[in-house]
Amino acid sequence: MSEKLTIVGGGITGLVAGYIAAKSGKKVKIIEKGADFGGLLKTFPIGNTRLEYYYHHFFTHDVELKWLLSELGLEEWLQFYDTRMGVFKNGKIYDFNTPIDLLKFTPLSFWGKLKFGITSLFLGKIARWENYENVSSLDWFYRWAGENVTNALWKPLLDIKFGPFAKSVPLAWMVGRLRQRMSSRNNGDEKLGYLTGSLQKLLDELLKELGRLGVELIQNCEVKSLIIEKNTLLGFETDKGKFFGGEFLFTIPTVYLSKLLDAHNQLFQESLSKIKYFGAVCVVLELTEKLSEIYWLNIADPGFPFGGVIEHTNLISEKFYGGRHIAYLSRYFSHDEEFAELNDVQIEELMIGNLMKVYPDFNVEKIKKAHIFKTYTAATVCDLNFSQKVPDCKTPIFNLYLANMCHVYPDERSVNNSIRVAAESCKVLGIDTSSIPKNVSLAGKLGFNS
Ligand SMILES: Cc1cc2nc3c(=O)[nH]c(=O)nc-3n(C[C@H](O)[C@H](O)[C@H](O)COP(=O)(O)OP(=O)(O)OC[C@H]3O[C@@H](n4cnc5c(N)ncnc54)[C@H](O)[C@@H]3O)c2cc1C
Repeated sequence: MSEKLTIVGGGITGLVAGYIAAKSGKKVKIIEKGADFGGLLKTFPIGNTRLEYYYHHFFTHDVELKWLLSELGLEEWLQFYDTRMGVFKNGKIYDFNTPIDLLKFTPLSFWGKLKFGITSLFLGKIARWENYENVSSLDWFYRWAGENVTNALWKPLLDIKFGPFAKSVPLAWMVGRLRQRMSSRNNGDEKLGYLTGSLQKLLDELLKELGRLGVELIQNCEVKSLIIEKNTLLGFETDKGKFFGGEFLFTIPTVYLSKLLDAHNQLFQESLSKIKYFGAVCVVLELTEKLSEIYWLNIADPGFPFGGVIEHTNLISEKFYGGRHIAYLSRYFSHDEEFAELNDVQIEELMIGNLMKVYPDFNVEKIKKAHIFKTYTAATVCDLNFSQKVPDCKTPIFNLYLANMCHVYPDERSVNNSIRVAAESCKVLGIDTSSIPKNVSLAGKLGFNS
């Protein structure tokens, strides 16, 4: 075990792995391609505060996140709020929080409601994900929840989230997802958390702490090629020169690591390239008035360019944003669909042009400002038997370790689970992580077999 650890990727996984490793006495460097650290947690200025590019909320069972916040003295800043969820179906907004809301949801027949309730409870409370890795969610829903329920709810939701991959999403992923959501609920009411002041607060404190621990933080530094000899990673080349020595933990998306490997590591490269990623776009609107009372609205009617409207200021007060109401219009996309090619102006026009269909009282005058953010690596595509694709943290190349969101499966990728992945990767590197709490209620953990 080397005392020197170089981490590539300065998102939350890389930063937390660096924190744990440096605390254990390792000499750590973190190399980041972008101008700022944070990856998908990045924020932008809004009024007197900051806001995430991509909506971020947390669950009451996010114990790893709570651990990190307490390490940084920020636990008071994570506040939990009651939330209101909704579904837009057949041109109408329905509340979708409690069993009573389900009874009032007219797009489903009586039997449909019953089947929806029973199948959701089964998946969220009873099913073991290991048994459903090779079962397509849609096939299972058609069989057990029926056509009415699947066409009205599950299919549009899976289509929006996974596009052309919807058919091959394993039921194991649904089990992880529903379990996560249900354990944040109490009698149907869901509490979701938000970090007052935005995730920038966490990033700033974490970066300060890393500085104090002597971690070398190097940004604007993209790893361009690897220096591998006799199946050992000796170092890599970047915009800022070559880096050599010690062990290397890559926390960048798997697809980028696969591109850095060459023909000498063809088999490993091919196995990594099987893991595909989705993109996501969030159009963030600063509005003079709220759109509705609902925090999270799933769009279940076909033909909309966004799959969800997340009214952030229905979770936390608009007073934090000088009275501006904030809504995210969110859309996941696959890399080969037309939407991926649209520029910001086209995206804005398309999204805003469709908003009035959901909220008839909305008009463009209510928009004070719109911000558009796009990533090509928002989530991994978890398809059938995905666990067999998840690479070990200790790779076949000596000194090269890999930890990122593909290791989170079958749970949903999240900040909390990135912290868990960071902790697990440190364990693989021989660091004692026993003091970091672990949420056993999550569905499962894979990819750290070595
Ligand atoms: C739309 C959206 C909504 C989300 N909502 C939530 C939510 O509500 N709650 C929640 O908990 N989580 C949410 N998440 C998930 C959460 O943001 C991610 O799980 C987490 O941020 C992943 O962190 P990471 O460090 O693994 O990856 P990343 O943040 O992707 O970090 C990887 C880093 O590697 C760097 N990099 C890449 N290539 C190179 C290279 N060659 N050289 C050097 N550096 C490189 C990148 O610049 C980046 O900074 C959401 C994500 C998205 C996209």
